[in-house]
Amino acid sequence: MLFYLPIKIVNFISYGYLRNCYMPKPGFKSITVSENVYNKFFRIYEKRKNHLELKGITSFSGYLTSMMEEMMIKHEAFAKQAPFMEKISIDSDRVLLKDNKKNRIVEVILKNGELICVLDEKTDCVHIGFVYSLPQVYMILNNKGIKAPKTLR
Ligand SMILES: [Zn+2]
Repeated sequence: MLFYLPIKIVNFISYGYLRNCYMPKPGFKSITVSENVYNKFFRIYEKRKNHLELKGITSFSGYLTSMMEEMMIKHEAFAKQAPFMEKISIDSDRVLLKDNKKNRIVEVILKNGELICVLDEKTDCVHIGFVYSLPQVYMILNNKGIKAPKTLR
């Protein structure tokens, strides 16, 4: 009983102390990263400190915030520019595509001298148009004496 009170007080004080150290200010949120990551970025920040101050960045967290904003802008620009159709693989009678607009894998097969889109069950959809535009496919079709339908030329 003699020691009970002091310990309680110590606990209370250290809890308050830790709270002040680790809890973000109102309107802020904190994230946790490994010490390695933190040190890496902090070293870069320290090296560039003078240069950053000219840009109005005066704290480490301000530096990270500006870095993240910059990256978001780049990422968004990249997403807009990403091609909406990508070639995955080309065989002699089958082409696999990734349609990024529909977010689907599309199979285009060569059947009876015609390219057919398995997804749309068509011979003249955007996927067929894309496949004809691939130089490798053009060569294969040319060797087989197959020409793109008039609607796609
Ligand atoms: Zn299609």
